[in-house]
Amino acid sequence: MYRAFARDLTAVPGIGPALAGKLAKAGVRRLGDLLLRLPARWVDDRVVTPIRELREGEPARTEGRVLRVDAAGAGRRRQVVVRLADGDGAELELRFFHSDWLLRDARLTPGRRISVRGKPEWWRGRCQMLHPEWMPAEQFAGGWRPVYGSVAGVSGARIAGFIRRGLELAPPEASSPFDAALPDHPSLREALFEAHAAARGPEAAIHARACERLLLEELFTYLHLMRRMRARARIAAPAWPAGEMAARLLEALPWPLTPAQRQAWRDIAADLASGQRMHRLVQGDVGSGKTVVAALAMLAAVENGAQAALMAPTSVLAAQHAETLNSLLAPLGEQVALLTGALTLAARREMLARLAAGEIRMVAGTHALISEDVRYRNLGLAVVDEQHRFGVRQRWALTERGPAVHLLAMTATPIPRSLALALYGDMDLTVMRGMPPGRKPVETRVIASRGRLAEGMRRMLDAGGRIYWIVPRVDEDDDGASVTQRAQALAARFPDAGVLGLHGRMKPAEKEAALAAFADGRCRLLVSTTVVEVGVNVPEARLIVIEQAERYGLAQLHQLRGRVGRGEAQGYCILLPSRDAPAAALERLARMADCHDGLALAELDMKLRGAGDATGVNQSGDVGFRLLDLARDAHLIRDWHDRLPEARPTEAMIRFWRPEAERVD
Ligand code: ADP
Ligand code: MG
Repeated sequence: MYRAFARDLTAVPGIGPALAGKLAKAGVRRLGDLLLRLPARWVDDRVVTPIRELREGEPARTEGRVLRVDAAGAGRRRQVVVRLADGDGAELELRFFHSDWLLRDARLTPGRRISVRGKPEWWRGRCQMLHPEWMPAEQFAGGWRPVYGSVAGVSGARIAGFIRRGLELAPPEASSPFDAALPDHPSLREALFEAHAAARGPEAAIHARACERLLLEELFTYLHLMRRMRARARIAAPAWPAGEMAARLLEALPWPLTPAQRQAWRDIAADLASGQRMHRLVQGDVGSGKTVVAALAMLAAVENGAQAALMAPTSVLAAQHAETLNSLLAPLGEQVALLTGALTLAARREMLARLAAGEIRMVAGTHALISEDVRYRNLGLAVVDEQHRFGVRQRWALTERGPAVHLLAMTATPIPRSLALALYGDMDLTVMRGMPPGRKPVETRVIASRGRLAEGMRRMLDAGGRIYWIVPRVDEDDDGASVTQRAQALAARFPDAGVLGLHGRMKPAEKEAALAAFADGRCRLLVSTTVVEVGVNVPEARLIVIEQAERYGLAQLHQLRGRVGRGEAQGYCILLPSRDAPAAALERLARMADCHDGLALAELDMKLRGAGDATGVNQSGDVGFRLLDLARDAHLIRDWHDRLPEARPTEAMIRFWRPEAERVD
């Protein structure tokens, strides 16, 4: 089949080089590009309604004999009126503006029968249709009719004709390697015909099967490609048996691991001992305890004579990691160095020398860890925290600093499994569900009136708590919801709170300074855009207020509220919707109050708002599917990921479905 798909568009009767060039600009270059443009919708032409039974405003198919064709009006009102009559005398007028050529159309000679589809309207007691579709009655086929979108200015009706003729170019023996693996589905060839013909209507089960068959063709090809990339990434690496240092850390911890942490550590230990490079993504809610899991893996590296590096997206976060790791590892007498851009030149030079000599065995840091001049003696493990904040390139960069560096990526952004498989299919996935015991869920409320909020904030500040206030934008606007405007207003109201602003356009050093002031209490009310999403830990932060909350996905709101309630005291999250937020949006927000599972919220997002929102960014577009829709087809990905047919896609198939694959490889 793919040999036919690869044929030039000019193979289709009626498409010349000029038209082909025009279509190519819209991405329709080959026959396959044309044939996989599926109908946008279907029109029910099974029933022909007699003119007498037409009803106002209800689009319908009807038929009649031409009585006469007249011109009427002048200038902009110039029109052609075609009068039709039924056998029983009922009459219908068709009006076409600026269509004088119809006056000379032989198909409208009085006495000829034509078939018409349009919306009936009554005007001065007569039934009429404006610009209906029409054709000689003997050409009307009936049944269901596909309607296509236009391409590069070529009308959907012409596209339909090209597709009909294009399908005839599919040789009868055309097949796909996956046909045999899908006995319950039509073959690719049959599916393609059915998808465009809906022989038994678009609602028939066979039609759904056919459309699914096409999706599976794309899905399987994609999953095979991912598998191939994964196989390439999986190279031999020294096997590290789980050792004594990890056991000693577990003993020294003041609490037992949660079941989720135990599972994650089991997965990782198995990877490290396997003799192949680990390439694992650990996904766990904010506060689920990923740091100690990373510490265990880092100890395994050290114990086996290798270095371990942990990379975080900001220096505040990197510093927090170093501090946490150092207190976790103190009982073992192990130390973690901190490498950020903030080091003095001399300190940096010394640290680089010690890293290159292998004296530093564990290091936490920012992008500084992948600077050109940083050399590792024998880097064996790269931990990348909040990995979605780094591009794919950066994620890999740290692993390229040694011959076979294990990769442990961690993220607190929950993504539904199907999405994770699709987006990060080149990694193994561990999902950590559940929190360490005793964690109080952040009390969440949607409020409409802001009056009482100020009182609550006052009480919170007086009790020593700190507050995040999230606004949607940096630039000033009428609603006052920019960082500067809101910070000014709040500073006037709470002069003792040391109000500061924080947003993504500030210089890194300014951002860090604001976060540091908030962390040590010089600032107790921080007005920020969503940049605070990244995991800073300020235990005194107990209240987060989110303006225009309906703009955000639930998973993102969950991330934001994870900033508070990290200490002993109860945390609160107040969602302030816009005044004109629709009822459905409020209902969606209300789910935040009783659901505290990030993954469940992400799944809900995906159902309600599509894949883009579930991931926070529109990654579904980046994945570049032709037919698949990550949100709509999540069930297919889930169903087939683990029972992918063994048959391999041919190179022609891979080129067809994933033209950018060469770049990825
Ligand atoms: P994450 O990085 O997943 O957001 P952290 O690793 O920062 O979470 O852990 C959050 C908090 O939970 C830390 O204060 C940590 O000490 C604590 N913690 C981690 N694991 C456990 C556990 N098994 N029992 C009790 N507390 C834990
Ligand atoms: Mg963390």
